[in-house]
Formats: sequence, structure tokens, C-alpha cells
Amino acid sequence: MDFKNTYGFAEDLDNTDALKRFRDEFYFPQHLGENKIYFAGNSLGLQPKKGKDALLQELDDWAEFGVDGHFEAKNPWYSYHEFFKKGLAEVVGAKEIEVTPMGGLTANLHFLMVSFYQPKGKRIKILCEGKAFPSDQYALETQVKFHGFTSSEAIVELFPRDGEVGIREEDILTKIKELGDELALIMIGGVNYYTGQVFPMKEITKAGHDVGAIVGFDLAHAAGNVKLNLHDWGVDFAAWCSYKYLNAGPGSVAGIYVHERHSENNDLNRFAGWWGTPSEDRFQMEKGFIPAEGADAWQLSNAPVLSMAVHKVALDLHLQAGVENLVEKQKLLTSYLEFVLRDISERISSVNFTIITPKERGSQLSILTEGKGKELFNKMAENGVIADWREPNVIRVAPVPMYNSFRDVFYFGQIIEKSIDELN
Ligand SMILES: *Cc1c(COP(=O)(O)O)cnc(C)c1O
Repeated sequence: MDFKNTYGFAEDLDNTDALKRFRDEFYFPQHLGENKIYFAGNSLGLQPKKGKDALLQELDDWAEFGVDGHFEAKNPWYSYHEFFKKGLAEVVGAKEIEVTPMGGLTANLHFLMVSFYQPKGKRIKILCEGKAFPSDQYALETQVKFHGFTSSEAIVELFPRDGEVGIREEDILTKIKELGDELALIMIGGVNYYTGQVFPMKEITKAGHDVGAIVGFDLAHAAGNVKLNLHDWGVDFAAWCSYKYLNAGPGSVAGIYVHERHSENNDLNRFAGWWGTPSEDRFQMEKGFIPAEGADAWQLSNAPVLSMAVHKVALDLHLQAGVENLVEKQKLLTSYLEFVLRDISERISSVNFTIITPKERGSQLSILTEGKGKELFNKMAENGVIADWREPNVIRVAPVPMYNSFRDVFYFGQIIEKSIDELN
């Protein structure tokens, strides 16, 4: 498509946008009586308007029923996680039995690694992307330490070649082959939080399995953002948070996926809890852990229903919008943003934006700024933009197909130009 950096062009795209009605389902922070340009949905997705009623429903049922709400609430709390199976399965491309909402992302990564990082003999290494999200780095570092290894002997990081922005697929696959029977686990972010690169998950999974390794992904920046097919790709396990592209609210419950092939494997280590047992047996209160079927066996505690209530309505919006439609709009929206940024860079000599997000990407563009990047970012914030600054000099922006419009992108460009003027 031939883009134009004009209001009329953006408005036309909005008019033909099949998902335009979803914008009204969300609250936008305000600036001078107008919606802010909210491009931070990769950090914290916006609040669905139906969230408050969903939360009130649970609070009201708690008031009315007390403990009996576990079975008598409108949405019984005892089996609350069941409401998420359909939506999560669709979002990550899995069977319902392979997914469950639970816990927090970093905690879940640890629990999953207890099961899926079992170093033996010389097979001790974990392959991950360089500049992984700090929490993931700490999780890996402390997992290998727990097994008696140092990071330098057990953790292998992948980096882009000099002068390149993304890590090449061929370099990842070569490294996997090279590590061969020393490789215990591949644990990579499906989408890197910093550069926005989407990794070739299918190919990585195949290459990992070819050398006998287990393959897991952190999907914090991928769930609700890019097309996923975890089951068909054969991915062993994955974890994600719900508050980024899934709009479930700050710190809301996370989610996990475990391929059904692991469902019957009782040799896996597991740090278990009572919610991981079959629901019929749970109140027998007997000794000896018996795992439930599928991903549910990894559940530990009873469901954090208050945070899950918002997750539930937000996930319903995802189902209504449809993952395919979201991904299709995302491509157009992000390409339009790229076009607007390049247009500004070409016309205005005092700015030099370099996009460090490779072409394998989702919603996010990471923009390397030179010189007065931080001042510009602050000025844009004063002028009604919410984006994300990462030291030393990167602005991350993510126009989200669920609620951002093409006019948001146009206005974003206008605000950049205005902010540059004000700084000069
Ligand atoms: C956002 C994010 C996290 C955050 O972890 P929490 O346990 O939810 O605080 C972890 N890893 C990655 C890759 C992320 O993007």
C-alpha cells in the first residue's frame, strides 16, 4: 500500500478498519480532554470498560455468598480457570488441555523449569537471547545455580552480528546444532522486549528437538500480539503475562502452556500444589500428589479470582476480534507507523531515528534516537504521548490493533514534529 502522512489518509484507513468498534471498549488516559496517544500496550494494556462490572460481580458474589461463592457464584470460583481455556488456547494456538491461567510470569517460568530443565551428564546448557528481559535473565541464572552450575558454564546467549539489528535465524539454528548434546533447554522470548524481534519459533523448536533439547518460550510480548501455533510447532512449554497485549490489568494472573505429550509423564519433576490435582479429588485432602490432566497439573494455588475477572472480559474481546484479524491489522498499523517515522526522519534534518526492530516483528517498533532523544521523549509525553523509554537511548512504541487507530499514528507523527519544534 502507498501510505501518506496525512489526516485524510489515516481517517480512510480507520473507516475501513474491521476492528474499529473495539476502541470504544477501552478507557484511554486523557490529555486536554482528548485521548492520549497510547502506544504503551506492550507494557500495560488499556483497561477494558467491562472490567469494572466483571470485578464487581465477583465482589458482590463474595459479599452475598462468602465461602459458598466457590460453587454458588455466577461464575463459580472453584472451576474459574476453566473459563479461560477457549480464549487462551486460541491466543497461543494450543489445545484447551494444554493451557491454564495461573500465578505470575516469572514464578511460572521457575516452576516450568523445575520440570523442563533437568540437566544430566554433559547436557546442561540453556540457550537464550542476549539482552533477554532482566527477570528472565535472573530466572535462568538462578536455575542453573540451583543445579550447581555457573552462568558462564551453562548459559549461552545469542546476539545479532555486528552492525545488524536482529539475530539471524541461520545463526540461531547453527548455534543449536553446534551445542548439540550439550543443550538441555532453549528458553527464548517469542518476541524480544527490547528490539521487538519475533523469533522463528517453529524452526527453533524443530532444531532444538533434533538435538534432543527441550524448547520453551517466554511469550510476554507475543501473546495477543503475533500469531502463535504452539501445539503444531511442537513447543514443549511456554509462559506469558496477561497485562501487556491481553489487557488484564497491572500484575494480573499469568498463563502457561504445556504440550499434551508431557501430560502423562510422571517422571517430570514438579513443585506441586493442591490446585494441580484433579478437581474431583481435591477435597479428599489425602497424601500423595496425583496430577490433573494437562497444564492444570502445574497449578499450585486456588485461582486469584479478582484479577482473573478482568482477564476474562479482556480475553472475550480477543475472541470476538479474532486473532487473525488482530494480526492483520497489526501489520498495517505498524507499517504505517514506520512510514510516518521515516517520513519525519527524511524531512527534518535535526532528527535521526533508526528503527532497530527487524522486519520479523509484531506491534512494536524500537527507535534508536541520537543526541536529544530523552528530551524529545519527555516533550512528547508533555504533548500527550504515552510510550516507553529504555536507557540509554531507545523509544519503544507499540500501536495495538485492538484499540489503536491509524489516526493515532498520524497524530503521533504530528506530536513528534511539534515537540521537535518546541525543543529547537
Ligand atoms: C513483562 C515481562 C516480564 C515480567 O515478569 P512478571 O513476572 O510478570 O513481573 C518477564 N519477562 C518478559 C520477557 C517480559 O516481557
